[in-house]
Amino acid sequence: MTDFDVLVLGSGPGGQKAAIAAAKLERRVAIVERRDMIGGVCINTGTIPSKTLREAVLYLTGLTQRDMYGQSYRLKEDITVTDLTVRTRHVVGREVDVIRNQLARNRVTVLSGSGHFVDPHTVAVVDERGNEIKVTADKIIVATGTRPARPASVQFDDQTIIDSDGILQMDQVPDSMVVVGAGVIGIEYASMFAALGTKVTVVERRDRMLDFCDLEVVEALKYHLRDLAVTFRFGETVAAVEKHPRGALTILESGKKIPASTVMYSAGRQGMTENLALTAAGLTADDRGRIAVDEFYRTSVPHIYAVGDVIGFPSLAATSMEQGRLAAYHACDEPVSGLNGLQPIGIYTIPEISFIGKTEDELTDSLIPFEVGVSRYRELARGQIIGDTYGMLKLLVSPEDRTLLGVHVFGTGATELIHIGQAVMGCGGTIDYLVDAVFNYPTLAESYKVAALDAVNKLRRVARITD
Ligand SMILES: Cc1cc2nc3c(=O)[nH]c(=O)nc-3n(C[C@H](O)[C@H](O)[C@H](O)COP(=O)(O)OP(=O)(O)OC[C@H]3O[C@@H](n4cnc5c(N)ncnc54)[C@H](O)[C@@H]3O)c2cc1C
Repeated sequence: MTDFDVLVLGSGPGGQKAAIAAAKLERRVAIVERRDMIGGVCINTGTIPSKTLREAVLYLTGLTQRDMYGQSYRLKEDITVTDLTVRTRHVVGREVDVIRNQLARNRVTVLSGSGHFVDPHTVAVVDERGNEIKVTADKIIVATGTRPARPASVQFDDQTIIDSDGILQMDQVPDSMVVVGAGVIGIEYASMFAALGTKVTVVERRDRMLDFCDLEVVEALKYHLRDLAVTFRFGETVAAVEKHPRGALTILESGKKIPASTVMYSAGRQGMTENLALTAAGLTADDRGRIAVDEFYRTSVPHIYAVGDVIGFPSLAATSMEQGRLAAYHACDEPVSGLNGLQPIGIYTIPEISFIGKTEDELTDSLIPFEVGVSRYRELARGQIIGDTYGMLKLLVSPEDRTLLGVHVFGTGATELIHIGQAVMGCGGTIDYLVDAVFNYPTLAESYKVAALDAVNKLRRVARITD
């Protein structure tokens, strides 16, 4: 007899949902987590603080109101770190409380400390005082997530040269910042600091950024960020970062030198597996600390599962939760279908981006014909009311059966709006449904109808010519 039916390592979105799903199936469940990290990276250092910070930035800078009230409009001059962190601390505190309550309500035992394998069914949990207990379980789900990768060549000091975790510990809003790496996290923070008035330079080794997104949308984002005084250095590699008493000097291989008060490295993330003693369980991780799994999130040891960022792409809270639930169901012998192939992507830049399905480039590369229907927020009454004149929604439509192949949104509410497209696509709906549907007025959701009409008109023009 083991101590638990299911033991989960890590309480981020993947671990939490796995533990609760197994508990709902009336299994004896425990979750292992460090005392100050309930909710994982997601609640404590990643998704939730960064999205709350963004909300605070938008509110305090009054950025979205400037089309209406003039470019000098600010809710508050001289925004301080305290102004920003007051909100993040409040939200993080509440979220941790919600998670603790959910775990308690579902009778999930929380074991405080760090876990590592002793053998394939036994985990040792060591608390912050060094006390160790050993627990056994039939099934184990590893959901230990990731930490920011820190290149050995960079002298991080957590003040001038920081990673994304360091953003939350800054003692002042820097007047200038170099962001190394134009991935999602780098660009999200670059746009927040640019909105705060920090002079941001983004250095990216590749020639493009966010290359999995719609090209037109990324161009629109770059235009907006340049408007906020962001400088992009694409195709450039950082040779060295020097720390000086009055800031840091980022030296590029091309010889350029960029002075700034702060340098934020956003150079990918490393799986949190080095302290798990994986070999004791018969497991290994790759050089980025990731564990390989099958379609049911089983590792090479069939009773041990892994979910969330520790298994790699897409490394989103949204998908991690679903992976956790599916892994728990499989571990508890519940019927499961795999992860739905239609996954939304949300990028909380300023303005935000969201999409689902294919991009124009992907369809073109696969020789799949499509028509484009576009709606611009400035032509919607709601767009004018809220002062968003740059937002747009784009539908990629199959000319053969009029279904949606992709939906791309840029601007206010993009990450919410995308779910209308997701529902239509998931149910196999066509643009005719969107043309015929009545939307609340004035809303941004109405952009679906406008874009659908645009696509229908274009398709009609093609049909007329060939008739
Ligand atoms: C700045 C930033 C912004 C982000 N924004 C978004 C966003 O807007 N939307 C989105 O969907 N995703 C976002 N993400 C990604 C999202 O945070 C992750 O995908 C998600 O948190 C991964 O969940 P997880 O279940 O893998 O666990 P994590 O949230 O990574 O948590 C893992 C937990 O495991 C614990 N752990 C590690 N080792 C052990 C051990 N040995 N024993 C016990 N516990 C252990 C850790 O303490 C940690 O609490 C963002 C990430 C960052 C860094």
